[in-house]
Amino acid sequence: MRPATIKNQVSSGGVIFRTNADKTEIALIAVKGGNVLSLPKGIVDKGESPEETAVREVREETGLRGRIKDKIGEISYWYYIKGENARCRKTVHFYLMEYLSGSTKDHDAEVDDAAWFPLDEALGKVSYKGDREIIEKAKGMIKKIE
Ligand code: ATP
Repeated sequence: MRPATIKNQVSSGGVIFRTNADKTEIALIAVKGGNVLSLPKGIVDKGESPEETAVREVREETGLRGRIKDKIGEISYWYYIKGENARCRKTVHFYLMEYLSGSTKDHDAEVDDAAWFPLDEALGKVSYKGDREIIEKAKGMIKKIE
Protein backbone atom coordinates (compact mmCIF):
# COMPACT_ATOMS: atom_id res chain seq x y z
CA MET A 1 0.00 0.00 0.00
CA ARG A 2 1.28 3.50 -0.76
CA PRO A 3 2.43 5.50 2.29
CA ALA A 4 -0.26 7.39 4.17
CA THR A 5 -0.64 11.09 3.40
CA ILE A 6 -0.54 13.55 6.28
CA LYS A 7 -3.47 15.84 7.03
CA ASN A 8 -3.90 18.60 9.58
CA GLN A 9 -7.26 19.48 11.10
CA VAL A 10 -8.17 22.23 13.53
CA SER A 11 -11.22 21.92 15.77
CA SER A 12 -12.55 23.99 18.60
CA GLY A 13 -14.72 23.19 21.58
CA GLY A 14 -15.69 24.12 25.08
CA VAL A 15 -16.10 23.37 28.74
CA ILE A 16 -19.51 24.88 29.50
CA PHE A 17 -20.22 25.20 33.23
CA ARG A 18 -22.93 26.23 35.68
CA THR A 19 -22.71 26.57 39.46
CA ASN A 20 -25.58 26.18 41.89
CA ALA A 21 -25.18 26.20 45.68
CA ASP A 22 -21.39 25.76 45.30
CA LYS A 23 -21.80 22.73 43.04
CA THR A 24 -20.27 23.12 39.59
CA GLU A 25 -21.43 21.00 36.67
CA ILE A 26 -20.10 20.76 33.12
CA ALA A 27 -21.71 19.30 29.98
CA LEU A 28 -20.34 16.21 28.22
CA ILE A 29 -21.47 14.42 25.07
CA ALA A 30 -21.74 10.67 24.49
CA VAL A 31 -20.64 9.37 21.08
CA LYS A 32 -19.80 6.01 19.42
CA GLY A 33 -23.01 4.36 20.58
CA GLY A 34 -22.69 5.94 24.01
CA ASN A 35 -19.33 4.27 24.70
CA VAL A 36 -17.24 7.44 24.56
CA LEU A 37 -17.80 10.50 26.75
CA SER A 38 -16.07 13.66 25.64
CA LEU A 39 -16.10 17.42 25.51
CA PRO A 40 -18.15 18.99 22.68
CA LYS A 41 -16.05 20.22 19.73
CA GLY A 42 -15.94 20.34 15.95
CA ILE A 43 -14.04 21.48 12.87
CA VAL A 44 -13.35 25.21 12.50
CA ASP A 45 -15.20 26.15 9.30
CA LYS A 46 -13.80 28.54 6.68
CA GLY A 47 -14.30 32.15 7.76
CA GLU A 48 -15.02 31.19 11.36
CA SER A 49 -12.87 32.11 14.36
CA PRO A 50 -12.05 29.30 16.85
CA GLU A 51 -14.18 31.18 19.41
CA GLU A 52 -17.20 31.19 17.06
CA THR A 53 -16.73 27.49 16.34
CA ALA A 54 -16.56 26.67 20.05
CA VAL A 55 -19.83 28.51 20.78
CA ARG A 56 -21.55 26.95 17.73
CA GLU A 57 -20.36 23.40 18.41
CA VAL A 58 -21.30 23.55 22.09
CA ARG A 59 -24.77 24.80 21.11
CA GLU A 60 -25.22 22.14 18.40
CA GLU A 61 -23.80 19.17 20.27
CA THR A 62 -25.14 19.88 23.77
CA GLY A 63 -28.19 22.09 23.09
CA LEU A 64 -26.69 24.74 25.42
CA ARG A 65 -25.84 28.38 24.76
CA GLY A 66 -22.72 29.68 26.46
CA ARG A 67 -20.56 32.77 26.65
CA ILE A 68 -16.78 32.47 26.47
CA LYS A 69 -14.94 33.54 29.63
CA ASP A 70 -11.39 32.61 28.61
CA LYS A 71 -9.23 30.22 26.57
CA ILE A 72 -8.33 27.03 28.44
CA GLY A 73 -5.69 25.66 26.07
CA GLU A 74 -5.33 23.16 23.26
CA ILE A 75 -4.71 19.47 22.79
CA SER A 76 -3.53 17.49 19.79
CA TYR A 77 -3.70 13.86 18.75
CA TRP A 78 -3.15 11.65 15.71
CA TYR A 79 -5.67 9.35 14.10
CA TYR A 80 -5.90 7.35 10.91
CA ILE A 81 -8.53 7.99 8.22
CA LYS A 82 -8.94 4.57 6.62
CA GLY A 83 -10.90 5.53 3.50
CA GLU A 84 -8.29 8.14 2.57
CA ASN A 85 -5.17 6.27 3.78
CA ALA A 86 -4.30 9.46 5.64
CA ARG A 87 -2.74 10.11 9.02
CA CYS A 88 -4.39 13.11 10.56
CA ARG A 89 -3.02 15.38 13.24
CA LYS A 90 -5.85 17.17 14.95
CA THR A 91 -5.43 20.22 17.15
CA VAL A 92 -8.40 21.20 19.31
CA HIS A 93 -8.71 24.64 20.97
CA PHE A 94 -10.81 24.70 24.13
CA TYR A 95 -12.63 27.62 25.76
CA LEU A 96 -14.21 28.03 29.16
CA MET A 97 -17.86 29.07 28.80
CA GLU A 98 -20.47 30.13 31.28
CA TYR A 99 -23.90 28.62 30.69
CA LEU A 100 -26.57 31.06 29.50
CA SER A 101 -29.60 29.03 28.40
CA GLY A 102 -30.86 25.88 26.71
CA SER A 103 -31.43 22.22 27.54
CA THR A 104 -29.29 19.13 26.90
CA LYS A 105 -32.48 17.52 25.54
CA ASP A 106 -31.91 19.67 22.45
CA HIS A 107 -28.56 18.09 21.51
CA ASP A 108 -28.34 17.31 17.81
CA ALA A 109 -28.64 13.85 16.29
CA GLU A 110 -24.88 13.66 15.58
CA VAL A 111 -24.29 12.76 19.22
CA ASP A 112 -25.91 9.93 21.17
CA ASP A 113 -26.54 12.01 24.27
CA ALA A 114 -25.59 15.18 26.13
CA ALA A 115 -25.79 15.68 29.89
CA TRP A 116 -24.59 17.73 32.86
CA PHE A 117 -22.09 16.07 35.23
CA PRO A 118 -20.63 17.29 38.52
CA LEU A 119 -17.14 18.56 37.63
CA ASP A 120 -15.23 15.89 39.58
CA GLU A 121 -17.42 13.10 38.23
CA ALA A 122 -16.78 14.36 34.68
CA LEU A 123 -13.02 14.13 35.32
CA GLY A 124 -13.36 10.43 36.06
CA LYS A 125 -15.73 9.73 33.18
CA VAL A 126 -14.22 11.30 30.06
CA SER A 127 -12.63 8.80 27.70
CA TYR A 128 -9.60 10.79 26.51
CA LYS A 129 -6.61 11.99 28.51
CA GLY A 130 -6.56 15.29 26.59
CA ASP A 131 -10.14 16.06 27.65
CA ARG A 132 -9.25 15.24 31.27
CA GLU A 133 -6.30 17.66 31.21
CA ILE A 134 -8.52 20.41 29.78
CA ILE A 135 -11.18 19.82 32.47
CA GLU A 136 -8.47 19.91 35.19
CA LYS A 137 -7.33 23.30 33.88
CA ALA A 138 -10.93 24.52 33.65
CA LYS A 139 -11.47 23.49 37.27
CA GLY A 140 -8.62 25.75 38.39
CA MET A 141 -9.94 28.63 36.28
CA ILE A 142 -13.52 28.28 37.62
CA LYS A 143 -12.20 28.31 41.22
CA LYS A 144 -10.51 31.64 40.52
CA ILE A 145 -13.65 33.14 38.95
CA GLU A 146 -15.99 32.14 41.80
P1 ATP B 1 -14.86 16.80 14.98
O1 ATP B 1 -15.65 16.55 16.25
O2 ATP B 1 -13.61 17.63 15.28
O3 ATP B 1 -15.69 17.35 13.88
P2 ATP B 1 -14.73 13.97 14.28
O4 ATP B 1 -15.88 13.60 15.12
O5 ATP B 1 -14.79 13.71 12.82
O6 ATP B 1 -14.26 15.47 14.46
P3 ATP B 1 -12.74 13.08 16.21
O7 ATP B 1 -13.71 13.27 17.32
O8 ATP B 1 -11.48 13.88 16.24
O9 ATP B 1 -13.41 13.27 14.78
O10 ATP B 1 -12.41 11.55 16.12
C1 ATP B 1 -11.45 11.03 15.22
C2 ATP B 1 -10.69 9.92 15.93
O11 ATP B 1 -9.92 10.47 16.98
C3 ATP B 1 -11.61 8.86 16.55
O12 ATP B 1 -11.01 7.60 16.40
C4 ATP B 1 -11.65 9.25 18.02
O13 ATP B 1 -11.84 8.13 18.83
C5 ATP B 1 -10.28 9.88 18.22
N1 ATP B 1 -10.31 10.94 19.24
C6 ATP B 1 -11.27 11.87 19.43
N2 ATP B 1 -10.97 12.71 20.43
C7 ATP B 1 -9.76 12.31 20.89
C8 ATP B 1 -8.90 12.78 21.94
N3 ATP B 1 -9.22 13.82 22.72
N4 ATP B 1 -7.73 12.12 22.13
C9 ATP B 1 -7.39 11.07 21.37
N5 ATP B 1 -8.16 10.58 20.36
C10 ATP B 1 -9.33 11.18 20.13
